[in-house]
Amino acid sequence: TVALKDVTKVFRDGTVAVDSINLDINDGEFMVLLGPSGCGKSTVLRMVAGLEEPTTGAVMLDGELANELPPRDRKIAMVFQDFALYPHMSVGDNIAFPLKLAGVEPAPRGERVTDVASALGIGDVLERRPSQLSGGQRQRVAMGRAIVRRPGLFLMDEPLSNLDSGLRAELRAEISGLTRELGVTTMYVTHDQAEALTMADRVAIMRKGVLQDVGTPTQVYNRPATLYVAAFLGSPR
Ligand code: ATP
Ligand code: MG
Repeated sequence: TVALKDVTKVFRDGTVAVDSINLDINDGEFMVLLGPSGCGKSTVLRMVAGLEEPTTGAVMLDGELANELPPRDRKIAMVFQDFALYPHMSVGDNIAFPLKLAGVEPAPRGERVTDVASALGIGDVLERRPSQLSGGQRQRVAMGRAIVRRPGLFLMDEPLSNLDSGLRAELRAEISGLTRELGVTTMYVTHDQAEALTMADRVAIMRKGVLQDVGTPTQVYNRPATLYVAAFLGSPR
């Protein structure tokens, strides 16, 4: 579980990026952080990842205070918009790399790579180099590499924003399908309402650093907590 308790982030220049947020993410849940550009989504994710420390408040991971825990000691994996693959390695070796670092033997390593790659629809390109793939395939490889170690928590920050709309729709279903299949707790950041509503178990909607509403897609769409949420989601009046 992840629990944010009254978490605030004020940057050095005085910018209040995140303002007293309280949010719980249950084990195995797919939580989407939704809101317009600059509302503080990435800052929340970076605090959960340990890349930023809260100014005040507590980030709890599995019930333990994690504010000062370095990223490597959190059981997390992250995928960003500008993911980087290892260009000199095959797709298969890219996905296998974290397992190799963790000392997993070649046989089980191969098996895990095959499982993850076939779940992501890239089982037939494992021998290729990243430069020989389409953008969507590359994003799938980045996803596979992040999730292959079965992290306790999977953090994604706008991972589909560089892709065309057809591919986005396809990958949405794959990502949420894969994380549910593996039972991995996920925080997924997007500014795209449709993406949020189709992928999420629950959606957390932010505006100017403040959490406006949290609930299932049906709840937030049909019974938005504020006028802002209603307008942002295009809820019927
Ligand atoms: P986007 O959808 O554009 O990625 P976001 O919701 O992820 O936006 P954040 O990146 O979390 O927004 O930024 C929240 C606010 O904090 C913005 O006003 C941003 O300019 C500011 N901010 C982010 N990082 C810093 C920093 N290192 N120093 C000062 N201000 C920052
Ligand atoms: Mg961002």
